[in-house]
Amino acid sequence: MKVKFYGVRGSLPVCGREFERFGGNTTCIRILREKVNRIAIIDAGTGIRNLGKEIIKAGLSHQIINILFTHFHWDHIQGLPFFPPAYNANQKIGILATGRRGKINNLKEIFTLQMQEDYFPIHLDAMGAQFEFLTYGDKETLFGAVVTTVAQHHLHAGGSYGIRVEDESVSLVICTDVEHMDGIDPNIVNLARDADMLIHDGQYTKEEYKKFKGWGHSAWEDAVKVAIQANVKQLIITHHDPDHNDDFLDSMEKECQSIFPNSLFAKEGMEVVV
Ligand SMILES: [Zn+2]
Ligand SMILES: [Zn+2]
Repeated sequence: MKVKFYGVRGSLPVCGREFERFGGNTTCIRILREKVNRIAIIDAGTGIRNLGKEIIKAGLSHQIINILFTHFHWDHIQGLPFFPPAYNANQKIGILATGRRGKINNLKEIFTLQMQEDYFPIHLDAMGAQFEFLTYGDKETLFGAVVTTVAQHHLHAGGSYGIRVEDESVSLVICTDVEHMDGIDPNIVNLARDADMLIHDGQYTKEEYKKFKGWGHSAWEDAVKVAIQANVKQLIITHHDPDHNDDFLDSMEKECQSIFPNSLFAKEGMEVVV
């Protein structure tokens, strides 16, 4: 399994020279399962625009492109209107919300609203691609991969969802937009148990977190605690704060690696093998 980051910024896209190395686009991760030649996309932040251009350039014929959403905050959906494959009438696109069967009234409406006339000139139904909107249970086999989903604390319980993907004996866990309110959330540790790779929110430092308790995000130190408690092999920190420039992220990464050596701070364009 290969993972590529197309957006690693949290909350809001940023631009400027001081953000060039880590990148300014918001959350979008592509998972490639090479043996079956399938991709899955996690979240449609502004990074999905570049991913869409790459898909078209490569001429890959993915029968269906599945986009699985951790939740629907702007920084995780805002790129969808700019996803070029969504304008191709032959393209099938699955909009997926795992772990939320029976919890979402109308998944399509969430995306229709952000594209209504007042906000965007093209209506969702006018884009062209054949969309499917699907909610799933907590544990599902999707295209041969086992996907487990747990509710996370993000502003409130169930404000976002953590995902574990298991495929051909490798395991990848993605927990972004998660806050550990009173100690490390045992549900997140269970989800990440013995994972080959954990991608975890680390928007703040421990010191900053004191000011931002209740804002829905983690200090990188908490991500390290999850990785250690869950016996994770590799940790990748993402959802970087829009106020953290490259030099600051470098220093956070160094400190993180001094405690958990097999860790990285995600950079836009970075590809890693799980
Ligand atoms: Zn976010
Ligand atoms: Zn969020």
